Amino acid sequence: MDASIEQWTALAVLLPPAQAEDVVGFRMIGEQEAGVETLVEGLLEHGVPAADNVRAEIAVLAEVWGVRGRVEDALRRARPDPAGGTCVRLAPPVAAVDRQTPPVVVPWLECATCGGVLNRVVDGPFISDVDADRLELIDPDGTWGYEADELWEAFATLHECCDDPDCRLAPWLAWED
Ligand SMILES: [Zn+2]
Ligand SMILES: [Zn+2]
Repeated sequence: MDASIEQWTALAVLLPPAQAEDVVGFRMIGEQEAGVETLVEGLLEHGVPAADNVRAEIAVLAEVWGVRGRVEDALRRARPDPAGGTCVRLAPPVAAVDRQTPPVVVPWLECATCGGVLNRVVDGPFISDVDADRLELIDPDGTWGYEADELWEAFATLHECCDDPDCRLAPWLAWED
C-alpha cells in the first residue's frame, strides 16, 4: 500500500524546496521508486538531519516500492538528528546471517522503548535480502507474523509503544488504534 500524498509531502519538505517538489512530483506521476531514491539522495547531498524515526519511515516506504536494498545503506549515512523522534529506528546492520539454513531472519526495525524488533524473513534459499517472504514482529507481548506486503500494519504495531502525541508517524499510523 502506498503512503498518502500528505505523508510523502511531510518527508519531502525535509529537503530544500526544489528537491521537495521533485519528490512529490515523482509520487504524482506514479514513479514512486524514483521519488524514494531522490528523497534519500537529497538527504545526503544537502546534509539534511534525519531522525531515527524518519529513517525507519523511509525504509518502510522504500520496501513498499522495492528499492529498500538500493537506499538503506545511504539512509544509514544520513546526518543524525538528535532532536528528532527516536521512537523507532533501523536495527543495526547485521554482520553475518546464516544463509544456508532457512528461514533466514534479518532484524530490520526496532522499538527504542520495549526493544521490540521487526524482522524480515526469507523462508527459501537465501539469494539476496531484497525480497523478504514475510515479516515477523517480536515484542514483549509475543511474536506476530505479517505477510511481506503488510508493511504499514507491521510498522504500526512496532510503533505502538510511542507515547509522543506530536510524533511525526502518529498521523500515518493512527488507523492501527
Ligand atoms: Zn515497543
Ligand atoms: Zn513515534
